[in-house]
Amino acid sequence: MSAENTDPDCIFCKIVTGELPAEVIDSDEWTVAFMDANPATPGHALVVPREHCADLDAITDEDLAATMSAARRLTRRLTESLSPAGYNVLTNQGEAAWQTVFHFHVHVIPRYEDDPLKLPWIPGPGDAGEIARTGARIRGEKAE
Ligand code: AMP
Ligand code: ZN
Repeated sequence: MSAENTDPDCIFCKIVTGELPAEVIDSDEWTVAFMDANPATPGHALVVPREHCADLDAITDEDLAATMSAARRLTRRLTESLSPAGYNVLTNQGEAAWQTVFHFHVHVIPRYEDDPLKLPWIPGPGDAGEIARTGARIRGEKAE
């Protein structure tokens, strides 16, 4: 049950150890889930691994699997209790992507038909050549 890797300056580590208060709604050997203090919608919660790690890049496969499993357990629990219409389940990585707390966390955001959230990008067809070139770069292929 103990988190061996704890950052004394990390607010989510302090929530995991009980040093800081939080509205905890679920926990297991590897994870803790608690209500987000600035909810996007009613029921917005965060799931964190007990072990400190900064982000998706840093988390171990085992903690990632446990955290995602706990997130799904939470969506099922929220479905039973709040009956939302759907969920956004997401993680932000890096300041450029709105990450503000550098202890990996999964946002579980219940969605309601009349909630105010908006898709944060404007969908539209991309340039086919650019998509192909970017795919090639990601695969590590040399430019033609
Ligand atoms: P992110 O911007 O993805 O790093 O998300 C951090 C989230 O943590 C934000 O949605 C904050 O509202 C939330 N948060 C920060 N401090 C606390 C806290 N002490 N208790 C609960 N939620 C918090
Ligand atoms: Zn931490």
